[in-house]
Amino acid sequence: MKILREKKVKKILAFYKNYFHFRTPYQVLIDGTFCLAALNSHLDINDVLSKYLQSEIRLFTTSCAIAEAHSLEKLFPGLLPQLCSCQVCSCGHKKKAVSVVECFKSMVNNNNNNHYILCTQDKKIQKVLRKTPGVPIIFIDRTVCIEQPSKVSQQIATDGFDGEVEELNYEDKVLNQLKERILVKKPRVDFKKQKSKKGANPLSCKKKKVVNVVPSKDNGIKKSRKRRKKYKVSSHIKELLKNIQQ
Ligand SMILES: [Zn+2]
Repeated sequence: MKILREKKVKKILAFYKNYFHFRTPYQVLIDGTFCLAALNSHLDINDVLSKYLQSEIRLFTTSCAIAEAHSLEKLFPGLLPQLCSCQVCSCGHKKKAVSVVECFKSMVNNNNNNHYILCTQDKKIQKVLRKTPGVPIIFIDRTVCIEQPSKVSQQIATDGFDGEVEELNYEDKVLNQLKERILVKKPRVDFKKQKSKKGANPLSCKKKKVVNVVPSKDNGIKKSRKRRKKYKVSSHIKELLKNIQQ
């Protein structure tokens, strides 16, 4: 069994455990159509279901389902013995058998108090029992599959357990926020535009040197005195100059 498939089954069973108090060993209610599909797919019902549900199971059927299988005995010879290997529940129709839809509907009643997991290929039974909250439905499509909880079951679960659902929603919100943070790309930074916004390079705008101005007597402003360069005069030239002056 693939890991994803196992996870899906665990999640669905956890839903029924948490909100509808399902416990192991699971009570599985099967009809003739499911038995027939298992026979055609060469599946051992007890083995395949206990593996799929990862738990011990108890197989149940009703006298009405057996009565239906009786009528189909000639067409499907292996069907009746397989169905009869299940434990027969007292459905209250011993005197007169009713249709399997009616029978299973009465077994589940309004809220599936006996925590039956329904196994059927009959679309009509599936449709009727989806209206009852807390009824897991299993069918065979090449292999065993469990349906997602019906809308009615989900609605009852949310109405009855506001707090837990709110917590779940909160966790979902946090997860979504994290996903957004990770997956949403940050806008690219355009360095060229940033440069143009900032303006000219600050190094190119050095402050001009302040020139000391000294007011002159005559014409107002005069530039500060420049220091004269001192030239060194050698000693023999100084002597010559002195001689000339004398
Ligand atoms: Zn019945």
